[in-house]
Amino acid sequence: MQWEVVVGLEVHTQLLTQSKLFSGASTTFGGMPNSQACAVDLALPGVLPVLNRGVVELAVKFGLAIDARINSPSIFARKNYFYPDLPKGYQISQFELPIVEGGHIKIKTGKSNEENEKIINITRAHLEEDAGKSLHEDFHGMTGIDLNRAGTPLLEIVSEPDMRSSSEAVAFAKTIHTLVRWLGISDGNMEEGSFRCDANVSIRRLGDEKLGTRREIKNLNSFRFLQQAIEAEAEFQKYTLETGGEIKQATVLFDSDKRETQVMRTKEDAHDYRYFPDPDLLPLIISPDWIEEIRASMVEPPDLCFSRFIDSKIDSNSKATYALSKYDASMLTADIDIANYFEKVVEIIGRKEAKLCANWVIGEVAARLNQDNKNIKASPVSPKQLAELILRICDGTISGKTAKDVFSTMWDGENHASADEIIKTKGLKQISNSDEITKLVDMILIDNPQQVADFCRGKEKAFNSLVGQVMKATKGKANPAQVNDILKERLNKKGQE
Ligand code: ADP
Ligand code: MG
Repeated sequence: MQWEVVVGLEVHTQLLTQSKLFSGASTTFGGMPNSQACAVDLALPGVLPVLNRGVVELAVKFGLAIDARINSPSIFARKNYFYPDLPKGYQISQFELPIVEGGHIKIKTGKSNEENEKIINITRAHLEEDAGKSLHEDFHGMTGIDLNRAGTPLLEIVSEPDMRSSSEAVAFAKTIHTLVRWLGISDGNMEEGSFRCDANVSIRRLGDEKLGTRREIKNLNSFRFLQQAIEAEAEFQKYTLETGGEIKQATVLFDSDKRETQVMRTKEDAHDYRYFPDPDLLPLIISPDWIEEIRASMVEPPDLCFSRFIDSKIDSNSKATYALSKYDASMLTADIDIANYFEKVVEIIGRKEAKLCANWVIGEVAARLNQDNKNIKASPVSPKQLAELILRICDGTISGKTAKDVFSTMWDGENHASADEIIKTKGLKQISNSDEITKLVDMILIDNPQQVADFCRGKEKAFNSLVGQVMKATKGKANPAQVNDILKERLNKKGQE
């Protein structure tokens, strides 16, 4: 039987503010337990929440970037439940009127991330505070509570059930991840819990209209687990239905060792959160002027940046275009810092060499960053240094191959030498003097009569071997294009003799 998987995601991303959603305590990660929890976070009697203006601005930025409606007013509501890491006995969230409603994002799926595009609709995005954390380890059989995270601002982004496979779900989560980091509203750090997903999964017979019963997989904190969990859950549901069973709505957890989902609670024991508007907080009013002010402070969103990178029209009024392939553009816009780095390099060299610059950023630079596990902002080779190096390829001073060695020296060197300095001290300048190359070619031809004869008998391979020998004799410094031309010319002469 043919089944279709249906997925809707809820993404919780921590908003990048210094202080908490309703208190002045710090949100910095990794502090001593309970060193960053003030009276409001501890829910001491008589304290009142005060909304952090910065948080509102970050949520509005997200809403504008996905073309959503910004609700004014939006309402904060109490979500009531009991748990030791929640001192108030309720979490402040938004329920009926979230700050952001509607909107959509475009995901790209398929090999090399460029083939298929699909719109995923966003239901809503609302503000809420995080809870604290129970520490079960190292307490002589007791459990400790760390309230440093309590009150940390989160944006919960809820999608429509628009995804049809685990790969689409991962593409969606990655697109949101790129977007929030791009907009500067979250660091998206998954190891520190700043970005986590719940996946709602159901299956239905291919062609059916009606959605199947969903089960919700909680707290997935890596793209790999997200993919594996959805696949395991879909397999479970298929097996259940095909063996005459029935899917019961439930909340489940993914066991990554066993690669299976396990029921945490069923619908019968689902919480009744008894949501109601928080009487301590006024309705949140966001004026049109404020929205425009926020819009004006925003960077170009990633999808527009992508379109501009593949565009070839030059319009003197707008920002530069580079006529890149979709693949190159999607690699360069995976992160705003990579895009900025690339644009700085091209700015120095000129857009005619945009493709060459893209190759260097996606190729050599990305590979070294990956090797050293570094962010491009911490790249030991600055955009200016890379541009100076690429310029020396363009003007024929060094070959592309030599440039890779220079790059490596630049990357590893402690004194941040420029390309020109390295080329000079290492004597890497390309030999472009044609008399000199002709002399060398003639010498190589005399030394290799067998290969010359082979070539004259039509063996193309012999030619490459001769080029290789000339390059070797010059330690790679001869201009390869010139070597090719001169060698051809001399061999043709020999053929005619
Ligand atoms: P809850 O508050 O229980 O999480 P919501 O109505 O907010 O419920 O829905 C949560 C998510 O479940 C949304 O992302 C939505 O797209 C998704 N969803 C709803 N129905 C289905 C379904 N039948 N199959 C898969 N996902 C679904
Ligand atoms: Mg949910």
